[in-house]
Amino acid sequence: MARRTKLTWLAVVPALALVAAMSACGSDEAGSGGNGDGQNIELVHEGQLTTCTGLPYKPFQYEENGKVVGFDVDLVDLVAEKLNVKQVIVDTPFDSIQSGADLNSGKCDLAAAGMTITEVREKNLDFSEPYFDATQALVAKKGSGIEDLSDLQGKKLGVQNGTTGYDYAQKNAKGAELVNFEDLGLLLNAVETSRVDAGINDNGVLYDWVKEKTDFEVVTEFDTGEQYGIGVRTGNKALLDLINETLDEAKKSGEYDKIYEKWFGKKPEEGSGNSN
Ligand code: GLN
Repeated sequence: MARRTKLTWLAVVPALALVAAMSACGSDEAGSGGNGDGQNIELVHEGQLTTCTGLPYKPFQYEENGKVVGFDVDLVDLVAEKLNVKQVIVDTPFDSIQSGADLNSGKCDLAAAGMTITEVREKNLDFSEPYFDATQALVAKKGSGIEDLSDLQGKKLGVQNGTTGYDYAQKNAKGAELVNFEDLGLLLNAVETSRVDAGINDNGVLYDWVKEKTDFEVVTEFDTGEQYGIGVRTGNKALLDLINETLDEAKKSGEYDKIYEKWFGKKPEEGSGNSN
């Protein structure tokens, strides 16, 4: 395997001696993954792959029976398997994920949070290859007469802090009063209880929500052409390579499609960034 060749090339012995010396001094809390692929990857907590995410973001990550599950969780589990460790999920505000703060402070090894790859974020963290296509969308009560942002003049629009939906609303929802929420759960609760007239967020999570909340509908999409990426600390190439390799293999083997179908109830559309 390519990874093993790389290890040989690294002249493993002196490198390992150095790592051993460092941990013996207690100067480095980080540990590495278990056996198998990615032996050269330093993890922020030994023996586990620590993922930062912002809950809830169903169906990408949310709690069910005391466990965090979802599409992103399943994908990152594949990376953890390669490292021969378990994934441990840390719930943290999305805003501090997308700013790079959580990754740079060593809170987590990676961030999987339905996070859109953007130029600004690229400056603060490194992204994997895209793994999911998304676009902004608007959710409102059926029969509300709200069909687009222009119908929100003088009305309240719920937005989520630090998100691309927030940015889109700031630029395009002129005349609406933006009401900011820290997470999607709070935002959707405000939509449901009519504390806001509509909410803006990614299409995937909104379509999932209206499946159960049948008094509400996704009234329009904005074609923002977004793509999700998994984030790592800037320069953490070893982990990023493993993530990309894992995503690539999962797409080729059909594992990605299986996971997609599990959470979205259908296969990814041909030709979309969500297909092979
Ligand atoms: N995809 C959106 C963004 O990256 C929302 C992500 C989220 O709220 N978890 O800003």
